[in-house]
Amino acid sequence: MIDVQDIGVYGFCSRLLYLKKIERLSEPATSDVIKRRHRTAAGRAISLGHASLFSFATSTEMSYGAIMSLLYPHSLATEVSEWALGCVKSLSISFENIVGQMGLPEAKKLVSPISYGLICESQNLGIRCTVDRINLAGAPCPVLIRCSDFKIPRENDILQALAIWSCLKEADTETGPPFIERCGTFMTHQILPTEKRIKSLNSAIEGIRLIYDGLVPSVCPHGIPRKCHGCSMEEQCYSI
Ligand code: SF4
Repeated sequence: MIDVQDIGVYGFCSRLLYLKKIERLSEPATSDVIKRRHRTAAGRAISLGHASLFSFATSTEMSYGAIMSLLYPHSLATEVSEWALGCVKSLSISFENIVGQMGLPEAKKLVSPISYGLICESQNLGIRCTVDRINLAGAPCPVLIRCSDFKIPRENDILQALAIWSCLKEADTETGPPFIERCGTFMTHQILPTEKRIKSLNSAIEGIRLIYDGLVPSVCPHGIPRKCHGCSMEEQCYSI
């Protein structure tokens, strides 16, 4: 079974997957890498919690900001507490805006029971995943939480979201299209499973199998040198 996270890594760069999975190399722990990890952990913690807090706030009519400030600020990693507090504040403002624009009864309709951390598999595709969250308003929709900056979602995140959707769809045909949510915000993108995207997903899965079977991707297989310059494993990649 291929782990869905590998599809995301492969979608960024097939050689990166090779370095991590086959050569078993890890990113050098530079201060930037450590800071990014802390931010990701804090951002995900906020995002995994905020939907249920949003639900709680709308059902109790308590201010979202008041609930968040009670729960989060002191438990977050100190290295990112300022950044995390910024997230909490902007979420609180977004929430007040949603209620202000739609009114509380309408805002409540955006919220439904939510499930977390479901593990599922697609036997057809030979992949498995843990779903960050499933929103159950209308059709159940998988949500992939991402901490990267995005105005438009990145291709590798789209592939990963579709892979998660494929796993859920196999178990429940009513599953709706997946969403990518930017951590620490209410910003989401719905990903439509077009034929072209499904084809890309299938070819990524095939490519990963080839790597598991011994194929070694060349340096810069994507042909975009500036992508390599932003890659945290550039030195290791070019030296082996
Ligand atoms: S340096 Fe370039 S080729 Fe190497 S893993 Fe990173 S993105 Fe891929």
